[in-house]
Amino acid sequence: MNRDLRKTVIAGNWKMNSLPSETGAFADALLPLIPGFEKWCEVVICAPFVMLPSAVLAFGDTGVKVGAQNVSQHAQGAYTGEVSAAQLCDSHTQYVIIGHSERREYYGETDKTVNEKTLAALKTSLIPIVCVGETLEQRENGVTFDLVAMQTKIALKGVSKEELSRIVIAYEPVWAIGTGKTATPEDAGEVCKAIREVISGLYGKASADGVSILYGGSMNDKNARDLLAQPDIDGGLIGGASLKPEAFAVIVNAANQ
Ligand code: PEP
Repeated sequence: MNRDLRKTVIAGNWKMNSLPSETGAFADALLPLIPGFEKWCEVVICAPFVMLPSAVLAFGDTGVKVGAQNVSQHAQGAYTGEVSAAQLCDSHTQYVIIGHSERREYYGETDKTVNEKTLAALKTSLIPIVCVGETLEQRENGVTFDLVAMQTKIALKGVSKEELSRIVIAYEPVWAIGTGKTATPEDAGEVCKAIREVISGLYGKASADGVSILYGGSMNDKNARDLLAQPDIDGGLIGGASLKPEAFAVIVNAANQ
């Protein structure tokens, strides 16, 4: 992390877990464990669409932000089952995960739709958390850096310098998500640094230095401190461990370093 240059973000991705009626109890358990968190990081809970109102209510003015896990690339219209960026904003949602590997793998999202969704989010006040990352096969074939560079470049197509300052990138090696396998802090830090260099090539060093790049992939209460100590890792996108208030709180507090 480098808090002089950019914000630290600890974002939980609840995926399709928990219930709206359980959100209040989660907030009540988490908040006393993270006193003063706003001094060192932004805490975000990315909940399923149907749970956004209860999450907004539960976190109220505590400083914890609420995010969605997907957004339509379309502004409005005949897109049954989809949710627009304007609808998310109007529901007091402040962040949105875009291009998570589960969306790419199970729901046919591509680099092109990731770019379209990023542009749609940026037309509103939403902060996109854009996910990139390689599969195990791609890593073993030695194309990790090429792959994340390509994903990053396509995701940012048409994004202005001003809009870039609102984007968060999450480097999530697919083989580490939900598997208990974590990239070593050095490997994860190296890929995050490479992503920053790609952004620097597109927008210049000063702009790239301001972008928060998160690591995601089995980050937990045991490994968070070491991962977050890497200079180019500016936070975490956390799945499994974000469902447990105690573990998530340890990660939030590990960002205070
Ligand atoms: C994720 O869903 O983005 C993720 C990183 O999951 P997990 O922490 O469970 O690996």
